[in-house]
Amino acid sequence: MSLHKGRTDTGTRDRPRTDPEAVSVNPFYGEADPVSGMTTEPPSHRLADSPMAPDAARQLVHDELMLDGNSRLNLATFVTTWMEPQADEVMALCRDKNMIDKDEYPRTAELERRCVAMLADLWNAPDPSSAVGCSTTGSSEACMLAGMALKRRWARRVGGRYPAAARPNLVMGANVQVCWEKFCNFWEVEARQVPMEGERLHIDPQAAAQLCDENTIGVVTVLGSTFDGSYEPVADVCEALDALQERTGLEVPVHVDGASGAMIAPFLDQDLLWDFRLPRVTSVNTSGHKYGLVYPGVGWALWRSSEALPEELVFRVNYLGGDMPTFALNFSRPGAQVAAQYYTFLRLGRRGFRAVQQTARGVARSLAARIGDTEDFRLLTHGDQLPVFAFTTESHVTAFDVFDVSRRLRERGWLVPAYTFPPNRQDLSVLRIVCRNGFTADLADMFMDDLSALLPELRGQGGPLGRPESVATAFHH
Ligand SMILES: *Cc1c(COP(=O)(O)O)cnc(C)c1O
Repeated sequence: MSLHKGRTDTGTRDRPRTDPEAVSVNPFYGEADPVSGMTTEPPSHRLADSPMAPDAARQLVHDELMLDGNSRLNLATFVTTWMEPQADEVMALCRDKNMIDKDEYPRTAELERRCVAMLADLWNAPDPSSAVGCSTTGSSEACMLAGMALKRRWARRVGGRYPAAARPNLVMGANVQVCWEKFCNFWEVEARQVPMEGERLHIDPQAAAQLCDENTIGVVTVLGSTFDGSYEPVADVCEALDALQERTGLEVPVHVDGASGAMIAPFLDQDLLWDFRLPRVTSVNTSGHKYGLVYPGVGWALWRSSEALPEELVFRVNYLGGDMPTFALNFSRPGAQVAAQYYTFLRLGRRGFRAVQQTARGVARSLAARIGDTEDFRLLTHGDQLPVFAFTTESHVTAFDVFDVSRRLRERGWLVPAYTFPPNRQDLSVLRIVCRNGFTADLADMFMDDLSALLPELRGQGGPLGRPESVATAFHH
């Protein structure tokens, strides 16, 4: 979570009021408060001395949250912003259940186990009964766990847990999500990144294989890239690593970061080889709260077999009763998201998932095509892999840039991030649109109307207005 400083002077409620007699809280909330008889707002950066009535407290929190955005107009995030009321009910049922109390809540634990089994089947684990996996708070935690397993397997291979001289490395494209930079930083692994080149905006199989050596713990491939929604060529990466093994004897495992794509490809791209059908793929993660269609935060990590997950990383604790093995960074975790994931699997089935994802892809492709048809924009991707596409301004456009477009769209309520690409394409700045369940064809039409209405004004600008830092950050979701 964001790293916050303590009290700052910008707190809205702790400033001295110009008129000390004035009542600073709405009298409807304050004077009606039988507990404190409060007429002034409570301090916002320290605990008040006394309690207040629940209705007044709720109203104050509610008022603070009113200025948050409308999530349906957020085209930046991959994360689920709508579930049906029945899912809310299921989640409410489990709000108080702690996932870790597997002995007290054996049925919640059973639903988690079934979700793992369903994903093992969906991702074509050769022997689903031997595949292992767990729920997490999201893909980031899942990637940490998968990375730790890779690192420990490497340490076993080279002998000794932390050989003094050897520094492990992990090979990936420069387009990986920030969680992989975190993993490498936190667990002291060198991140070896394949830079982008020209129109290739993700990993290159040959370049990845060339970066591997005896201290490579694995190669991460992304399905698909957060930068532009493109699928990385997982099968080609595996093939390049097969050739490397034949040449050198190096056996480099592959992890697939399927945060989004592992819940898209199984339904829309069944012929695409990216999952456990590829023998080199040892682990896969996904975000249940992205195209798994569950509210945040739930993710999943699976290993093709128990051999891929070193036993010594798995903990068994008996102080809550029971003796269930766990693999997780946190101890306590809410059970509601796991129950909601099971609900979604049950509710949709394969055909339902296909329909939902097909709809999202349909909206993405059609909106991308319309944006590509304007004289102002050039598409980098078309929304036909992840239902996500990135576009930039045509080279002849000099009156405005993508940051101006992002800023102007925000005036109409649309959140569309603009950002620059990593090496070697830092010259490239793009806008990205994520189409999720709930971003309907109707909403896409309204978006296109708003964008079209802005273009004449943008074309009339004297030049780009400069990039506000706040705009260039919103895409890492
Ligand atoms: C979103 C994303 C992550 C991080 O997932 P969280 O569930 O937000 O922690 C990791 N990798 C990729 C490719 C992603 O799209």
